[in-house]
Amino acid sequence: MMDLVKLWMITGSREFETSKKPLENITKKGIEFINENVTKIDLQNKIVRTSYRRLHYDYLIVALGVELAPEQIPGLKENSLVLYDINDVPRIRDAIRGMKSGRIAVAITGLPYKCPPAPYEAALLIRSVLEETGTSSSIQMDFYSPTPITLPAGGPQVSEEILQILKSRHIEFHGSHKTISVEQSRIKFESGEAEFDLLIAVPPHKVPLVAVDCGLAQPGKFIEVDRSCRTASDNVYAIGDVNQMMVTDKIAVPKAGIFAEGEGITVAKNIVSKIKKESEGAVFDGRGGCYLETGKKTAGYLRVDMYADPAPVTELKSPTPDYFLEKEKFEKERLEKWL
Ligand SMILES: Cc1cc2nc3c(=O)[nH]c(=O)nc-3n(C[C@H](O)[C@H](O)[C@H](O)COP(=O)(O)OP(=O)(O)OC[C@H]3O[C@@H](n4cnc5c(N)ncnc54)[C@H](O)[C@@H]3O)c2cc1C
Repeated sequence: MMDLVKLWMITGSREFETSKKPLENITKKGIEFINENVTKIDLQNKIVRTSYRRLHYDYLIVALGVELAPEQIPGLKENSLVLYDINDVPRIRDAIRGMKSGRIAVAITGLPYKCPPAPYEAALLIRSVLEETGTSSSIQMDFYSPTPITLPAGGPQVSEEILQILKSRHIEFHGSHKTISVEQSRIKFESGEAEFDLLIAVPPHKVPLVAVDCGLAQPGKFIEVDRSCRTASDNVYAIGDVNQMMVTDKIAVPKAGIFAEGEGITVAKNIVSKIKKESEGAVFDGRGGCYLETGKKTAGYLRVDMYADPAPVTELKSPTPDYFLEKEKFEKERLEKWL
């Protein structure tokens, strides 16, 4: 949920400090909360080590998310603001408000990345802020992605619709631009380069080291799971951004909170079945949806059915103020339900 708030921090409608909710609240549900770093997972002896303890498990659900890895692109850290980094988000907010003219570039610099529509939302929200501050007509916005279309997991139709929304807000999409390095005011791609005054980047993501060290993930990959979220290790499941659940041999379930939630429910059902000595039959249905914010308190809605037969289905409902209100309600309801 804090990831979602990052976009609202860019527009200035929300602050980090006032958006936080303590995770300790899950103790109300009879769950012990241990706020410590996991340093090692010992699969053989079924032990998780934290900074101060050794915890034995019968069932383990790995939900470590991803780590941002801007260091994988030379010069990225020094010459850009990282959209997904909570420390850079206030700097993005201030930088766009302080700009009078020039070029803003938004670049996706690694695949896969979490919440595939989020960088597009960020670009659209930035355009709205520029319209508010009266600088929009003198600021060019470019969007660079390594993929040929805006949202490959959403298919060509949805990608075209997103492209048209970007065009209508004077944001130029440059597909098939794989970033290799960044210098001051210059971004270099596998072929070609471009100039910018402000670069806002989605950095490469990597699996947390602890998942590689224990052998659950191969170096450079996420933890492979089947549709019941099982890993190759007995009674160990992986959910959310840390996993890779394939839909076809080319498409994986996107990294999004709504899918992490659905996978968590799937695992909960399977563990309960195992404890009751029933068969473990729950599989993740791959259904979900998310709101694509387009600025000025409007949003579209992306409905996704990853395991639809014969191929994944994604549909984009046109932006309206109602979907924006639903997005706000979604955040409130989830926080109330979980914490
Ligand atoms: C800007 C933005 C907007 C987004 N908007 C949406 C949206 O509208 N809808 C949607 O569905 N998704 C959205 N997402 C994606 C969503 O936030 C993620 O997919 C979701 O948070 C994944 O949940 P997770 O539990 O797998 O990982 P996380 O939420 O990242 O949680 C993993 C946790 O594990 C902790 N951790 C990692 N390593 C260790 C360790 N060694 N020891 C202890 N703890 C550790 C981390 O600190 C973190 O708290 C958005 C993402 C971004 C960046």
